[in-house]
Amino acid sequence: MKLSLRVALLFVVSWPASLFAQSPQIVRGPDDRMKADILVIVAHPDDEAAVTPYLARAIYDLHKRAAVVFATRGGSGGNDYSREHGPALANIRETEAREACAKLGITNVWFLDGKDTASQNVLNSLANWGHGSNLEKLVGIFRLTQPEIVITWLPSVFIGENHGDHQAAGVLATEAFDLSGNPVVFPAQVAGASKRLEPYLENLTPWQAQKIYYFSDANDSKQFAGKGPVYSVKEISPSQKQPYWRIALEAAKPHLTQFPADIARISKLNDAQLEKMMSDPNTAWWTEPMTLIFGKAILPTAATGDVFANIQAGVVTAPSLPAAKDQGAKLSQRDFISLGGPWGYYSAFRVEHGLVDLPVAPQPEIAVKIHTSVCIPIVVHHADAAPASVTLKVDAPPGWKVTSGQGNFSLPAEPSTALQVEVETPLMSPEELKAAKPQEITVLAEKNGASIGEVKLRVQLQGSALPE
Ligand SMILES: [Zn+2]
Repeated sequence: MKLSLRVALLFVVSWPASLFAQSPQIVRGPDDRMKADILVIVAHPDDEAAVTPYLARAIYDLHKRAAVVFATRGGSGGNDYSREHGPALANIRETEAREACAKLGITNVWFLDGKDTASQNVLNSLANWGHGSNLEKLVGIFRLTQPEIVITWLPSVFIGENHGDHQAAGVLATEAFDLSGNPVVFPAQVAGASKRLEPYLENLTPWQAQKIYYFSDANDSKQFAGKGPVYSVKEISPSQKQPYWRIALEAAKPHLTQFPADIARISKLNDAQLEKMMSDPNTAWWTEPMTLIFGKAILPTAATGDVFANIQAGVVTAPSLPAAKDQGAKLSQRDFISLGGPWGYYSAFRVEHGLVDLPVAPQPEIAVKIHTSVCIPIVVHHADAAPASVTLKVDAPPGWKVTSGQGNFSLPAEPSTALQVEVETPLMSPEELKAAKPQEITVLAEKNGASIGEVKLRVQLQGSALPE
């Protein structure tokens, strides 16, 4: 028995000598032209301009490579330059975005299939975009571009432009950051070498980015001080001999369908006039300095440290994630209410993605247009998922009218029930509006005459705002 096995082995390893005389066959690596040090993920063509002063620094003076992903092609906005609309405008906006990026030397630019969604609710954008298919596409771009650094919109609700699409870009980027290193996520993308001309499997490399940073369009940018590294936009680029804002301004000029009048006006200004424009906080396009908000890193690093501090070269793997929090799986032992909608989603999102230090408004807040409705999404949590009978009372500022969501509610047996309170906001004169401070709406819940809690929403009225 033993002897025959030895004979068999001898037979198997007797390869023809000629096979080893040849030089080894080369297996190609990933396409190095796609490699990005920084991957920027934004919602709309022109959003990239929020971080171009930093990108100019990274590209021209740190010799980093950047790539940009736009989640939509911007076809639903207005065209202030020419007559095209809809899909034709999307074609133009894509061209403008590519040209703007090219002005900074960024040629690797991708577009997801998100559709512009005029709303402040991130959940509306995620629904309208096709969350799953766009996440899959974005994970594929992470694996193709292999970035160390990810920069994206802050997924959080603040008084400001607060566009749901911006927040949705931040949600997808955060999810892709956590998923793209995991080979069992979208496995066809990382399925290895297969038959030549087989068109399904991608042979990409699972890729773990190392740090994620956010930026925000909140009205009050001072609240992010200390939350991440700061970079001067006024500093002179050693290689380009001009301030970073100036390079960024040039890179914004292709976006003619969005602000043609501003671009025409700025193009006529001389150096001194441009300097003056940038030194006045009311007219400057970027605040000085620019703060990037630190999200997380897979290696220990200071939140306010440089973007590229503690970055390791090459492939890294994510530290094993803390066990997923048992969100909602456990039944509540008591009755209580919480804010639902985007606020409820984000409080679970921050825990799930390990972003517990991400800036959050001290009290939930939103800006809405005057003389429209503000909706306050409420979640009633039931003790032991039992049927519940609750009463909601709403405290609204004088002159604001509660139009629905108050009164007694008989709720079915379930862990939690979503309700909604609607309040009509008043009409205001321009003078009143100018002086308007955020107002508070309080929703109080009672069961059998005893309080089971309350939620508050701060509302800033503005002359214009996206629908909630
Ligand atoms: Zn935008």
